[in-house]
Amino acid sequence: MEDGYKHILLAVDFFEQDDIVAGRAKDLADKCRAKLSIVHVVDSLPIIEAGYGVDIPYDLDLTAELMAGAKVRLTRLADKLAVDEDGRWLEIGRPKLEIIKIAEQNKVDLIVVGSHGRHGLALLLGSTANSVLHHAPCDVLAVRLQNN
Ligand code: AMP
Repeated sequence: MEDGYKHILLAVDFFEQDDIVAGRAKDLADKCRAKLSIVHVVDSLPIIEAGYGVDIPYDLDLTAELMAGAKVRLTRLADKLAVDEDGRWLEIGRPKLEIIKIAEQNKVDLIVVGSHGRHGLALLLGSTANSVLHHAPCDVLAVRLQNN
């Protein structure tokens, strides 16, 4: 790319090896003088089909608790990486969909993910990384993480 990336979106799951992925995104953003944004998605709990006509809905208390915990961690990481307030995204839903949505709506030209996280320890690419790679409107960097 001629002028380098302009808006890099770092997707973090606050699982293992997040610091490696974050470090790579920060380094690239500094080198390209790009805006750096961060997204974390609190995975929406599945609505359980109980099989006898009753769906067990979201546990609102639990969701609020997860959001509060995630906000603390997001703020800590964003402060460390000097990410602007308007580049801090805390969403709720399906991680792969929300990451793509934020990228589309904010003219992101590079998404940085880890090669795996919670869902992909046994695989080369985790399910979120894989899906982002296939549906992103822009380049995707999957930072290779060691299975351990
Ligand atoms: P996984 O599909 O769980 O193996 O995760 C692969 C990568 O996708 C992670 O290293 C993160 O970069 C990103 N990712 C996974 N889950 C989330 C999430 N809930 N919020 C933001 N990014 C995520």
